[in-house]
Amino acid sequence: MAKIMAVNAGSSSLKFQLIGMPEETVITTGIVERIGMKDSVFTIKVNGEKIQQMFDIDNHAVATKLVLDKLIELGVIQSFDEIEGVGHRVVHGADVLTESVLITDKEIAILEELVDLAPLHLIPNLTGIKAFKEILPTVKQVAVFDTAFHAHMPEEAYMYAVPYDWYERHAVRKYGFHGTSHKYVSERVAVLMGKEPKDVNVVVCHLGNGASICAVKGGVSIDTSMGFTPLEGIPMGTRSGNIDPAVIEYMMVKKGKSAREITAILNKQSGYLGVSGVSSDSRDLWDAANRGNARARLALDVQAKRIADYVASYHCYVGGADAIVFTAGIGENAPSTRSIICARLTALGVAIDEAKNECRGVERLISTPDSKIQVWVVPTNEEVMIARDTVRLIHA
Ligand code: AMP
Repeated sequence: MAKIMAVNAGSSSLKFQLIGMPEETVITTGIVERIGMKDSVFTIKVNGEKIQQMFDIDNHAVATKLVLDKLIELGVIQSFDEIEGVGHRVVHGADVLTESVLITDKEIAILEELVDLAPLHLIPNLTGIKAFKEILPTVKQVAVFDTAFHAHMPEEAYMYAVPYDWYERHAVRKYGFHGTSHKYVSERVAVLMGKEPKDVNVVVCHLGNGASICAVKGGVSIDTSMGFTPLEGIPMGTRSGNIDPAVIEYMMVKKGKSAREITAILNKQSGYLGVSGVSSDSRDLWDAANRGNARARLALDVQAKRIADYVASYHCYVGGADAIVFTAGIGENAPSTRSIICARLTALGVAIDEAKNECRGVERLISTPDSKIQVWVVPTNEEVMIARDTVRLIHA
């Protein structure tokens, strides 16, 4: 069995999954959190048992070494030689790296050029890649891009109506994110429907802390709600999603803040958190709303309304959706959120069965038999997509 490490390096975390291929069995999964802080936490699941330890981990290189050493110490592997390949989730490939690639010095140089497009994510992604390269110099590494699935959107979908020079000289266009998840979920729902991905049109609602909607026509992403950055689209845990761009200058003047500061507020203090003043977490919001907190309920309604707007629009854009699919933390686990979104789609003939909708983390058809569009819950699995592409490319 080939063992593949799927890695997701965030700004202060390093998530990993060791996957046995081609069986796609999860051998172990874990995360190092609070990297660079004093009380970093290492968590790993071995044989169903969760082990958690505290360390002082300065950077991603130290975290990588720790993870690999722990795999041996805990008997998950006997030697590093068992790891055949490492696949990295990389947030941005822009219009240069439009599909998964084997990582060589050339790809690292390209990613370094792209850092400006998504510094918060690309810098830790690169650090993770370099750390694995240093510790496992002979193991092939692959980059799997969040943007890749959206690389074939039509021009009319990715162009912003701004001076053309912004696009030509500064690469300002819609890129879209969560592509690996949208691809997995749209392919998986086709299988569940007994069809080929090329024969179905799907609207995927990836609703987690970050959230985006994707219009998938015959297996191809033709539009998605996130844009140049992951700030565009629907309201999220702490992100505003779409607003009138004129608000930025207006609030800069009102608050005496810089554009950077206002953008940070739109990224970190808006969305669920901004509207409710309660939390960025959907569980907290539903708890508060159910206790009568009107602003918590408003935050949920604002998001549901915007999601329904996208779903309705994408239903048209794909030429009639066969399925609407919910995935990610909220999409998989929050029946009430699915319910208030679908309630806004009755004009499309969408009807869900509330008893079937009462489910979490399972693959399930939740629409009624007479619903004009099927509605599904499909847990996402970005790691397996990373492992698949890694195996394919290291053996190519
Ligand atoms: P993600 O970014 O995909 O990990 O999703 C995180 C979001 O999923 C948070 O807003 C969580 O509150 C939400 N979530 C996770 N589990 C549940 C649950 N059981 N019920 C409601 N929301 C959940």
